[in-house]
Amino acid sequence: MKVLGIETSCDETAVAIYDSEKGLLSNVVSSQIEIHSEWGGVFPELAAREHTKNILPVLDKAIKDADISLSDIDAIAFTAAPGLIVSLVIGVVGAKALAFSIDKPLVPVHHIEAHIFSNFLEEKIDFPFLALVVSGGHTELYIINNFEDYKYLGGTIDDAVGEAYDKVARMLNLGYPGGPIIDKLSEKGICSLELPRPLLKGKPQHKYNFSFSGLKTAVLKEVEKQKYKPEDIAKSFQEAVVEVLVKKTLNAAAEFNIKNIVVAGGVSANKRLREKLTEEAKKEGIKVYFPPLYLCTDNAAMVAYTGYLRAKKGKFVSYDFKPYARIRMDKFVELI
Ligand code: ATP
Ligand code: MG
Ligand code: FE
Repeated sequence: MKVLGIETSCDETAVAIYDSEKGLLSNVVSSQIEIHSEWGGVFPELAAREHTKNILPVLDKAIKDADISLSDIDAIAFTAAPGLIVSLVIGVVGAKALAFSIDKPLVPVHHIEAHIFSNFLEEKIDFPFLALVVSGGHTELYIINNFEDYKYLGGTIDDAVGEAYDKVARMLNLGYPGGPIIDKLSEKGICSLELPRPLLKGKPQHKYNFSFSGLKTAVLKEVEKQKYKPEDIAKSFQEAVVEVLVKKTLNAAAEFNIKNIVVAGGVSANKRLREKLTEEAKKEGIKVYFPPLYLCTDNAAMVAYTGYLRAKKGKFVSYDFKPYARIRMDKFVELI
C-alpha cells in the first residue's frame, strides 16, 4: 500500500510518500524558519500564505522524488489536528482535493500521534511503551498499549518544553528556533545557576504533569542580573529541563512497569536529553528510542506512516471532515 501524507499544522509545508513494501519513497519539507525568525515565533497569517504558495510545489516534488504517478497512491493521509487552524485548513483542503481527483480515501492523522509513530519508520518497537512527547507545543506522557490505544498520564500545565527553549533563547538574543541553539551553546557552559525543578516533588495530582513557565521566569531574573555567561545560563536551564523530563518519565516507567520508552517531537533532537535519558533508563533495564534526527521536527513522513497504520484498519473520513485546532491524541482517536 502507498500512502501520501500531508503536513501543514505549523510552519512546515511537507509531503511524503510511504510504501508498506519499500518504505519511505520521498520526504519533502519546506520550512518557513527564516520567514518567522524575525518575529521570534510563528506568525499565523504569514504561515498560511506560505503554505498556500508551497503546497503544490512540495507535492509535485514528493511525487517526482518517489518516481511514481498519482494514480499509484492508495490513500491520502493528512494532519487533521492539532495546530494553527489557518495552517491546518490548507493541508486538509489540499488532501481533500487530491483524494477527490484520484478517487482514493482520506485518512486523518493527529500530529502528536505522528511524532510518536515516526519512531517506527526505522525501528521495530514492542508495545506497550511509554511515550514522552516533547515538542514546540506539547509536553506529555502517554502509555501506548497499541496503535490507537492511548492512555494519557499527564502534560504541561503552562508552557511546552520547546516553547520554553525558544523563549529562553529569545531572552539571550540567540535566534529562532532556540532549542538547537541552546543545545549547542550549553556544551561550552557550566551548570552554575541554581534553578527550580518544577513539579518534580509536590502534589500527587501533578505527578506526571510539567510546568516550564516558572523556570523561564527564573531564567529571566538571572539574565537581567547580567552576572552569568550565556553558555552557563543555557547549560543550567537545559540541565533543569532534562532532569525533570528524565525523572518523571522513569517514575512512570517504574509505576506501570514498562520497559520501552519512545521520545517524540522536536526536542527529542536534544543531545543532553538523549544522553541522560538513555543512561538513566539503562540502569533500570529500560530501552529508549529516539527518532532519527531528520524525523524529530515536523515532517510528512510521520503522517504518511501513521496514515498507513490507520488505512490498514480501513478508517477513513468523508469530504465534510473539519480539522481541530486543539484536541488531545487519545480523545482524537475516539472521535474519528
Ligand atoms: P507540536 O509538535 O507540539 O505541534 P511543533 O510542531 O511546532 O509543535 P516540533 O516541530 O515538533 O514543534 O518541534 C519544534 C521545537 O523543537 C522548537 O521549539 C525547537 O526549539 C525544539 N527543538 C528542536 N531541536 C531541539 C534541540 N536540539 N534541543 C531542544 N529543543 C529543540
Ligand atoms: Mg515548525
Ligand atoms: Fe510538531
